[in-house]
Amino acid sequence: MNVETPIYITTPLYYVNDELHIGHATTTIYADTLARFWRACGRPVLFLTGSDEHGQKIHKAATAAGTSPKAFADTIVQKFFELWDALDIQYDVFIRTTDDFHKQAVAQLFTRLRDGGFIRKDNYNALYCVECETNYTEKDLVDGKCPIHKTTPQQVSEENYFFTLSKFTQPLLDHIAANPQCIVPEPRRNEIVGKLKEGLNDISVTRTTFDWGVPLPWDKQHVVWVWWDALVNYISALGWPNAESLPTDAIAGRSRHGHETSAAPFAHWWPSAVHLVGKDILWHHTVVWWSQLLGAGEKPPRQVFAHGWWQVEGDKMSKTLGNVIKPLDVAGKYGRDALRYHILREGPAKGDADWRQSAFVARYNSDLANGLGNLLNRSLNMLGKYFGGVVPAECAFDQPALETSRLSLIARVNALYPRLVAAVTAFDLDAACEAVIELVRETNAFVNNAAPFKLAKDPARAKDLQASMHALCQVDFVLCHALRAFLPDAAVRIANQLGIKAEGKLADCIAWNKLAAGHTTSRPEPLFARIEEAAEGKPSTKP
Ligand SMILES: [Zn+2]
Repeated sequence: MNVETPIYITTPLYYVNDELHIGHATTTIYADTLARFWRACGRPVLFLTGSDEHGQKIHKAATAAGTSPKAFADTIVQKFFELWDALDIQYDVFIRTTDDFHKQAVAQLFTRLRDGGFIRKDNYNALYCVECETNYTEKDLVDGKCPIHKTTPQQVSEENYFFTLSKFTQPLLDHIAANPQCIVPEPRRNEIVGKLKEGLNDISVTRTTFDWGVPLPWDKQHVVWVWWDALVNYISALGWPNAESLPTDAIAGRSRHGHETSAAPFAHWWPSAVHLVGKDILWHHTVVWWSQLLGAGEKPPRQVFAHGWWQVEGDKMSKTLGNVIKPLDVAGKYGRDALRYHILREGPAKGDADWRQSAFVARYNSDLANGLGNLLNRSLNMLGKYFGGVVPAECAFDQPALETSRLSLIARVNALYPRLVAAVTAFDLDAACEAVIELVRETNAFVNNAAPFKLAKDPARAKDLQASMHALCQVDFVLCHALRAFLPDAAVRIANQLGIKAEGKLADCIAWNKLAAGHTTSRPEPLFARIEEAAEGKPSTKP
């Protein structure tokens, strides 16, 4: 795996009509984890998120709230900032589709497609779901209703501009065949290929019935279809088509990491893009978006990763059922890392997933409180007691069975970095976390076997005590670094207790013997408090 090539990681632009829920947080936490991991590998990363602010749905919501669409969007966007700050999401750029440079890029793309012969005027008769901001045909509907919202679509009839999507059926099939990893996981790619093989219809890409959008450059009666507008953000944020640098003035204050200001950001980051999306918007992010790009003479992004949806305790998550999981509630109650860990382990990366409180508590207690937290706490307490908190020099065990278990730990530690790289490359963040937790489990078993607390009582076993404590210090150091992307708060707290910094390239840190003998650690403190099930409102089974 080449960790030198740039990677441009994006979330969808979230629509400013509603409060963000666990689904939005899931996509964003996946993206943040990828961004943190690759940055820690030393790879050039640009992480973009933002807000989608145009369209009929926003116009309606703003009117209902008695305000202008822009003022309405400003209020909601503020909440997005607050949520991502509270969850410590380290995006580089936050783009808004109402940004001027973005609107200019949309207009230019449209003009380029017209000049390429891909835009025509026609009568538009369609079934339109305002909630989806998407057209349906009769056969897409379920009992005459939107398959996602179960509402009756609007019958729309107007003269509009159409994009000749039908011309892209074969180019898209060719592109996917030549780049089998361009849509992951595989069932999602098969789904898109299946639909492409049925053929594509031209789509209407302007509206005249409302004006909250990007006006068409040559016919101001029309505004650009909201999806068509929003998708362009992925390249407008790079200064496409002709900016000499990222539009830093426009996004000042919304950039967190001093993002790459190379002379030609579009050429630098595109097409090395990975779009993370929910499965419901995969069609827009592949078929629609890639056709726009191909028509404008640009390459499609390298990859689109589509995840599934959360259910809650076996039910669909919905406002009506009152079971919507709010990310801030979970993070506020259990901590950001607990929220993040549950999403990474149990989340819908491969298919749909079920948010169950009992699973949340069980996994937290076993992996974080009893596993990781306990290991760190007891190893640092013993180091304080037996070595004054100072890392001893490496030595082998006298006892052969213990030496075998030490060598096994060394082998696991030295295999961890390539395992993490492979798992993250495959978007398998669950497997990446599991690799770290396996090290925790093996090390806790090592502590139980070696029993330093017994060795300390026998002066004849001084060497074995030293061998065991040196090994534990090395594992603690490796865990700190291995967790930087997955449990960032815990990584910082482990670093503080070890008296180190959670920085440096992962390849140099996730290896044996990187914490030098003679290094003095700091005071240990508990990392994760156990969650007591009875506190969750369930009757305690204890007598
Ligand atoms: Zn719908």
